[in-house]
Amino acid sequence: MNFNGHHPYQYILFDLDDTLYPEESGLMAAIGERITRYMVQIVGIPADDAPLRRRTYYQRYGTSLRGLMVDFNIEPEDFLAFVHNVNPADFFGPSPPLDFMLHELPLRKVIFTNADAPHSERVLNTLQVRAHFEQIFDAHTVNYITKPDPLAYHKVLAQLGVAGTSCIMVDDKPRNLIPAKDLGMTTILVGNNSGASAAIDYAVPTIFHVEAVIKNLLPVERL
Ligand SMILES: [Mg+2]
Repeated sequence: MNFNGHHPYQYILFDLDDTLYPEESGLMAAIGERITRYMVQIVGIPADDAPLRRRTYYQRYGTSLRGLMVDFNIEPEDFLAFVHNVNPADFFGPSPPLDFMLHELPLRKVIFTNADAPHSERVLNTLQVRAHFEQIFDAHTVNYITKPDPLAYHKVLAQLGVAGTSCIMVDDKPRNLIPAKDLGMTTILVGNNSGASAAIDYAVPTIFHVEAVIKNLLPVERL
């Protein structure tokens, strides 16, 4: 892309889980186990029904949270606190390379996650990168109508006061990038999920590869 020395970008929207830290850390697997536990112990869903129901909710509603709200009228804040009752420091530590990369990227940065803000704060503080992010848009911000529902993206753009074309979105789930692309965002898929799709502008193996992609989108600074 050539913007003749100008570029349209103002914000990078970063997903949190499995994007800023690697899937292999096991943190999301631990949260997934707690989601199943919540369904069985708190909601009373039979244990052998819970895994299939989780998958169905993920496909139909985007998250288990949304499905449980629709089917069982659960209290979303209770659910989010329960499933995120894990300590990120048990799974990974500070990431000076991530800190350095974020420092090097000359755009404003926000978090756009389907998790909740307290979990996001714990993850960002564990990685020691909290200071780079101006805002955290979480499940609560979007009224629990989470990614990949287009309403969530509209809400974030409205709060930022910018058009989609001003944003670069970074996420590990191909399906989360489809509404982003529809709204004019530039999209970067991170991680091992296969992502051959018109909605994905760039696919990179780790978060650390994002720096080169974004720097290539920006004009070279004049010396
Ligand atoms: Mg993710």
